[in-house]
Amino acid sequence: MTLAQTVADLRHSFDSGITKPRGWRVAQLTALRRMLTERSAEFEDALLADLAKNPTESQVAEIGFVVGEIDHMLRHLRRWLRPRRVTVPGALMPARASIVREPVGVVLVIAPWNYPVQLLLAPVVGALAAGNAVVLKPSELAPATSAVMARLVPEYLDPRGVAVVEGGVDETTELLEQRWDHIFYTGNGRVGRIVAAAAVENLTPVTLELGGKSPVYVDDTVDPAAAALRIAWGKFMNAGQTCVAPDYLLATPAVAARLTEAFRAAVTELYGDDPATSPDYGRIVNGRQFERLAALLGAGSTVVGGQTDAATRYVAPTVLADVPRDAPVMREEIFGPILPIVTVSGPDEAIRIINEGDKPLALYVFSENPRIRKRFTTETSSGAIGFGVPAAHLAVGGLPFGGVGDSGSGAYHGENSLRTFSHEKAVLSKSLKPDTLKLIYPPYTASKDRF
Ligand code: NAD
Repeated sequence: MTLAQTVADLRHSFDSGITKPRGWRVAQLTALRRMLTERSAEFEDALLADLAKNPTESQVAEIGFVVGEIDHMLRHLRRWLRPRRVTVPGALMPARASIVREPVGVVLVIAPWNYPVQLLLAPVVGALAAGNAVVLKPSELAPATSAVMARLVPEYLDPRGVAVVEGGVDETTELLEQRWDHIFYTGNGRVGRIVAAAAVENLTPVTLELGGKSPVYVDDTVDPAAAALRIAWGKFMNAGQTCVAPDYLLATPAVAARLTEAFRAAVTELYGDDPATSPDYGRIVNGRQFERLAALLGAGSTVVGGQTDAATRYVAPTVLADVPRDAPVMREEIFGPILPIVTVSGPDEAIRIINEGDKPLALYVFSENPRIRKRFTTETSSGAIGFGVPAAHLAVGGLPFGGVGDSGSGAYHGENSLRTFSHEKAVLSKSLKPDTLKLIYPPYTASKDRF
């Protein structure tokens, strides 16, 4: 079947109305949940093959994460789909106004390779909950996971409303030539621009979940050992291939010196003396990414890690100290297990450096000083700000997850997913009698001036 035919079939299903009843939506979400739990082992194996992802990490950050999203959605869906009453201005009374969420139609979800289960299926939870027909486009760079999706999704979900299209640039380009009612893209900004340009053709709304350099600032009010352990966990999970991983660290020379020691201990605590032998430490997704990362090593002084092995695409958890701001590792999103430390004179310089860069997807601040926390919140802009913990904000269902500026536009998770994949229709209902609008109909006599 051609891609155009696949999309046409989904549109036919959507137009027939089968995806709209809440019963269908709940059935799809329940089936998706069943797929993830019954076939958990197949997803774990695929993630192990694609990214050497430890099965426990796969449960927490991928499979279990999506199950949590589904449960949250199922728990609240009835309420979130109820029309919401809004106040009618006195001049229009008597009347009733409400907002009704309606599905937008046929939507496309394009996912990247780094969390290939979570980042494909979490948006799909919102798309289905909103009553849409969906095409899922997994990343070709996580081929084992893509194959499992292509095999299992049609087995569990209603093929009239849900289709998986595998493939790379050619297939995605062809998909982008179709008419969609929403495109939800997660990945890098270069392709994000291609997606946005293609969407313009049909005035299709897009959600862009992009990346960038997420900074972390640490001051001397926090325990360096505790901070280093948290930061190392967020940075080295999935071998640093996490969009919300701390990208680089800003600290005064004194704090940086204390953190250096603490990072050494933290990496040992998480992955043992030789992370290359740890079953909990991932690998770089492919040779191209490995070469890119290997070339970023060597800036400043290597205080933790630095080892690589091309054959197994291993890059050790690495911390680089005294990194100059113009080093290559500071000029692009790292997206790997390398943490450069840039020394600053204090919060003023840190805030200036953050504001000189693109707006990050996340900013992390480790400080017990409420004034400092407030300054970073109000004087910088980022998709999210985390105090004392990296990455975990995305597990809070009530928080919108998304970027701002170069790190993306639009957001999802929980009710925000429903909002993203729905049209919020304005509904106003006013009875014909009594006709209070007579007061403003022409002719505009002097007595009507006060309106
Ligand atoms: P990727 O290479 O898998 O690309 C993402 C998707 O775009 C894939 O499905 C791919 O097939 C498609 N694609 C690639 N080239 C294309 C083209 N020329 N035209 C049309 N489609 C194309 O993943 P990636 O972009 O390398 O992912 C890493 C980036 O994604 C990083 O920048 C990271 O920060 C960002 N990211 C963001 C989030 C988030 O939630 N905001 C999550 C994960 C990753």
